[in-house]
Amino acid sequence: MKRRDLLKFAAATSVVGCATTSTPSKARVVVIGGGYGGATAAKYVRMWDPSIDVVLVERDAQFVSCPISNLVLAGYTTLQEISRGYDGLRRHGVQVVQDEAIAIDAAKKTVRLARGGEISYERLVVSPGIDFLFEEVQGFEAAMKAGTALHAWKAGPQTVALRRQLEAMPDGGVYVLSVPTQPYRCPPGPYERASMVAAYFKQHKPRSKVLVLDANPDVTSKGGLFKRAWSELYQGILEFRGNQKVVAVERGAVRTDFDTIRGDVINVVPPHRAGDIAQKAGLITTNNRWCDVDWSTMESKAVKGVHVLGDATLSASGMPKSGSMANNHAKIAAAAIVEQLNGRKPEPVKIINTCYSFVSEKEAIRVSSVHQWDGATLQPVKGAGGVSAARSEAEANYAWNWARTIWADSLA
Ligand SMILES: Cc1cc2nc3c(=O)[nH]c(=O)nc-3n(C[C@H](O)[C@H](O)[C@H](O)COP(=O)(O)OP(=O)(O)OC[C@H]3O[C@@H](n4cnc5c(N)ncnc54)[C@H](O)[C@@H]3O)c2cc1C
Repeated sequence: MKRRDLLKFAAATSVVGCATTSTPSKARVVVIGGGYGGATAAKYVRMWDPSIDVVLVERDAQFVSCPISNLVLAGYTTLQEISRGYDGLRRHGVQVVQDEAIAIDAAKKTVRLARGGEISYERLVVSPGIDFLFEEVQGFEAAMKAGTALHAWKAGPQTVALRRQLEAMPDGGVYVLSVPTQPYRCPPGPYERASMVAAYFKQHKPRSKVLVLDANPDVTSKGGLFKRAWSELYQGILEFRGNQKVVAVERGAVRTDFDTIRGDVINVVPPHRAGDIAQKAGLITTNNRWCDVDWSTMESKAVKGVHVLGDATLSASGMPKSGSMANNHAKIAAAAIVEQLNGRKPEPVKIINTCYSFVSEKEAIRVSSVHQWDGATLQPVKGAGGVSAARSEAEANYAWNWARTIWADSLA
C-alpha cells in the first residue's frame, strides 16, 4: 500500500475508531444511504442491540424528504421544513460518515469510500434509492445539466429549481410532466405533483396549463380520487394523456413516438433503477434494474451478508416503492440482523404501507396496504387497506402528521 493510500485508510478507519459505545462492540453493521430505509435501519439496529456498532455512510449533509416535496413546488412549504440533520442518529450512537460508498467487496466484507479508505463490516445494509436510466430519454441528461428540463424526483436542489421555473413562467404557459412506465418511485407521486402545480396555477396563473404525459395507459394509483379532484378543482387547467411515453427532450419541447409537444416548463421523470452502488456491487438481479431479496430478512439474493432496502428492491407483489415501505423494510432488516448477530433465527414480520397525496392546498387522499409472509415472500393481505372514501382536510392533517412521525421514527 502506498503511503498516500495508507493515510486515506487511516483517515477512514479513525472515523470509525471514534465509536462511543458503552458496551464492548459485538460486531459492526455498515449502512449505505441515509434516506428512508438506511436511516431507519441504522437507528433500529442500535436501539435493539446497543452492543452493535453502526456506521452510516451518506453522501449528503442532510436528509431531504421526497414525501411532501411536491408541496414545495406549489409554495405551500419549503425545502427547509422537509429537511432534517443526522444528529438524532448520532444520539443513538450511530457514526455518521458523510462520504460516498464507491465499492463493496463482499468477500473481504469492506466498503470503499470516495474520499479514501475502507470500512469493514459484519453485515451490510444498502439503501441507495434510485438512479436514472437517462439513455431512455434522448437529450434529457444534457437538458437537465443545462437546467432547461428537470426531474426533481430526488428532493433537493432540483425541487427548488423547478419551483423557480414555475414562478418565472408567464401566465398562459404550459407545464409538461412526463411519467415513466411502472415500476417507478412513488406511484401516486406524479399525480400529486400535477395537482399541486395545478393548485398553484389556479391561485396565481389561471390561464396556464398542466399537461401530464403518462407512459402508462392510465393513472397508476388512487385513479378515481385523483380524477375526481381534477375534474372538480382543475377543469381547464389540468389535462391527463395516457399511453404517452416521452422518448426525447428538445428545445422547449418533449417528443413521444407520435408527437412533439411544446412546454414552457419541462419536467421529465426518466425511468429508473436501483442506485449506482447496487449496480456496481452486483446486487441487481432483475431486468438490469432491481435487487431481489429474501423478504423475511431483506438479504440480497445475489450477495450474501448484504441487505437491500427501499426503492432499490425488486418489489414484492402489490408493494409500492415508497418511503413508508422503505422504513418498514428497514425494520425487517434491523430485526433480522440483530437476531443473526445474537445467534438467533430471524422471524418474518407483517408490514403496512400508507401513502398520502395532496390534491389541493388543504385536502389529501390516502392508499394503504398490509403485507404478510406466506412462507416464501410477502403478499398483500386481502381485504386490508384500501383508499380514502373522498378527499378531505382530515386526510391532509393526517398526511402532515404521517410525515412528521416518520421523520422522527427514521431520524430522531
Ligand atoms: C415527489 C415524490 C413524492 C413522494 N411521496 C411519497 C409519499 O407521500 N409517501 C411515501 O411513502 N413515499 C413517497 N415517495 C417515495 C419515497 O421518497 C421513496 O420511496 C423513499 O425515499 C425510498 O427510500 P430509500 O431509502 O430507498 O431511498 P432514499 O430515501 O432516496 O435514500 C437514499 C439515500 O442514499 C444516499 N446514497 C445513495 N447512494 C449512495 C452512496 N453510494 N454512498 C452514500 N450515500 C448514498 C442518497 O444520498 C440518499 O440519501 C415520494 C417520492 C417522490 C419523488
